[in-house]
Amino acid sequence: MAKTAKSASSASAQKPAAKKPVKKSGPKLAAPTYCDIAIIGGGPAGLSLARALEPAGLKVLVLESSSEAELKNPKPDGRDIALTHLSRTLMTELGLWQRLPEAEINPLREARVINGTSPYFLQFNKPDAPDAALGWLVPNFLIRTAADEAARVCKHVELRTNCTVKDVRTNDDSATITLASGERIIAKLAVAADSRFSQTRRQVGIATRLRDFGRAVIVCRMTHELPHDDIAYECFIDEQTLAVLPLFGQNCSVVITLPSYEAAKVQRMPAAEFNAYIAQRFQHRVGKMELYGERVLYPLIATYADRFYAPRLALAGDAAVGMHPVTAHGYNFGLRGAVDLAQRIIKAREAGEDIGSLELLRAYSRQHRKVTRPLYLATNGLVEIYTKDHLPARLLRKGLLHLGNALPPVKRLLMNQLTELPEA
Ligand SMILES: Cc1cc2nc3c(=O)[nH]c(=O)nc-3n(C[C@H](O)[C@H](O)[C@H](O)COP(=O)(O)OP(=O)(O)OC[C@H]3O[C@@H](n4cnc5c(N)ncnc54)[C@H](O)[C@@H]3O)c2cc1C
Repeated sequence: MAKTAKSASSASAQKPAAKKPVKKSGPKLAAPTYCDIAIIGGGPAGLSLARALEPAGLKVLVLESSSEAELKNPKPDGRDIALTHLSRTLMTELGLWQRLPEAEINPLREARVINGTSPYFLQFNKPDAPDAALGWLVPNFLIRTAADEAARVCKHVELRTNCTVKDVRTNDDSATITLASGERIIAKLAVAADSRFSQTRRQVGIATRLRDFGRAVIVCRMTHELPHDDIAYECFIDEQTLAVLPLFGQNCSVVITLPSYEAAKVQRMPAAEFNAYIAQRFQHRVGKMELYGERVLYPLIATYADRFYAPRLALAGDAAVGMHPVTAHGYNFGLRGAVDLAQRIIKAREAGEDIGSLELLRAYSRQHRKVTRPLYLATNGLVEIYTKDHLPARLLRKGLLHLGNALPPVKRLLMNQLTELPEA
């Protein structure tokens, strides 16, 4: 007998109803956010890059772990950044320079490099042109403020604050970024601008050379008795370096590098003792000196990534090249690299090409290495020679100063590297 619908239903009523298999699943994954370019890190390099990308009309997301308030109003961090001619031009083109308070742009008219207590010095004079300077000194927090403001007015840039990147994976087509909140972002290109200790760089497998100098740098501001005449000094004394950089009025920015074990002690010295210590080290060139504001300490570790790209990812700023500050080039290089990368992307976009192709990223990496590697190596070499107290080092540093003054081509080469002036 054929089963009727009734019998079938009554049969099923006697048996426990077969349960539908329940799919085991974790919390539902929210749909990812898509963008063209995701910049990890809203420091000066990341924000400058975001601004430089605006003409491309691409959707750019900047992911920054600091809060909105910290990004908009960064606190003074003791760093005064020496900016080159090229940086001034690039910052003007990006609308950053115009946002710096004029009174905080301090020109450097002359630089002197001094070895020990010798009165002899290697001298760099300002170029022969009206308004010329070797460079300009600007507080780092004001550069960050200017970069933040310039990025914020971009139509195609979105700044995400309180937004920590936890993981980055890339393949041939895209980069997937996972935030601490669990949100995923999928980009055609990711850029790691997350500092010299970049976590992203490690996650995508880019090896990095690291030079720990076993030293720290203390930065602070001081007022002084005598005028500085806009002269910047770099003094090499007993395994230390002391830079005294001119600010508005009779004020200066002091940068002192010391073995790490001494640095913490000097940072905590009572102010009166510190004043006397720096004035004496500086051989009273500007008379009595007095500290104002905080003394900020940074460990001295230079980094240089083995390559500045991975599939669908580029390194920018300190994540690519983390310079020793003695030659004052970290941000100058970061900015130059950011603008170069942005221009390549804009060109690719205009030509209807892939904005994250390996070819583009390799070309960027090659060019940025060519620009940065000589000064990176020379800076580390210089630090070795000028902070060792054995006889060969002492003789070499004395010889180098004389050589620099005696040979105009050597001096010109150094000057061009340090000021990034366009070739005459
Ligand atoms: C004492 C001193 C003096 C200096 N003097 C000069 C000078 O005279 N001239 C010069 O050109 N340069 C100088 N520099 C170097 C310059 O300050 C740096 O090169 C520059 O600040 C680097 O900028 P950045 O954006 O690459 O990195 P950073 O300023 O380190 O910014 C990285 C950003 O990434 C964010 N971030 C990190 N990880 C994550 C994450 N997982 N998720 C989201 N966000 C993240 C951080 O919060 C930060 O905002 C000096 C440096 C020091 C220490």
